[in-house]
Amino acid sequence: MNYVDSYYAATINQHQPWPQLDGSVQCDVCIIGAGFTGLSSALFLTEAGYDVVVLEAARVGFGASGRNGGQVVNSYSRDIDVIEQRYGTDAARMLGSMMFEGADIIRDRIDRYAIACDYRPGGIFAALNARQMQHLRAQQRLWERYGNDQLELLDERGIRRAIATERYVGGLLDRRGGHLHPLNLALGEAEAIRRHGGRI
Ligand SMILES: Cc1cc2nc3c(=O)[nH]c(=O)nc-3n(C[C@H](O)[C@H](O)[C@H](O)COP(=O)(O)OP(=O)(O)OC[C@H]3O[C@@H](n4cnc5c(N)ncnc54)[C@H](O)[C@@H]3O)c2cc1C
Repeated sequence: MNYVDSYYAATINQHQPWPQLDGSVQCDVCIIGAGFTGLSSALFLTEAGYDVVVLEAARVGFGASGRNGGQVVNSYSRDIDVIEQRYGTDAARMLGSMMFEGADIIRDRIDRYAIACDYRPGGIFAALNARQMQHLRAQQRLWERYGNDQLELLDERGIRRAIATERYVGGLLDRRGGHLHPLNLALGEAEAIRRHGGRI
């Protein structure tokens, strides 16, 4: 099955083909699906010396992992204050440190395995009006409380310097965030797995 048409599929890095499963294979751990979840788990396991097989029905990064926004964002689908309200400070603190760890793992792998996936550091949450700007100030205080010391509030001039538009009144720059080519990250992780003897 071919990748669906996208910018990412059109700019995919060259890679060796993966063999089709033929008959039975033996391994320590079999992982179903070569998206970020399966690839990341497989890479951790192969690095630790396990014999891993990843079974993929289509292609590496065929699902959401190969065609998402490519944004490395230090947050969850619910913000950390919602988690804090529902599950308490300790749980929020643990999850807060995990969200930084996730992005650090990605950056570490990009460096360690020289994965060419166009990683650009820095992500901006942009504000269209004063009310949104006020919200971003509150977000900054909240995230700093959870250990993000890489945040910078941008005023109108600041955001215009960062992105070429006059649409926004300001923003919050997170230097721990970033952007990358998700399909090439998936391919790079798959290559790293192969280098450690894993089979896909
Ligand atoms: C539109 C969109 C934008 C997003 N933007 C971002 C973003 O900017 N930043 C971010 O961090 N996250 C983003 N996400 C979320 C992110 O893409 C997902 O959380 C992540 O890709 C999930 O990875 P996964 O490995 O769990 O699933 P998938 O990437 O879907 O991988 C599952 C894999 O399993 C395979 N498979 C399924 N069933 C079988 C089977 N029976 N046998 C063998 N193989 C099978 C599939 O072919 C697929 O390759 C976005 C998601 C979407 C949909």
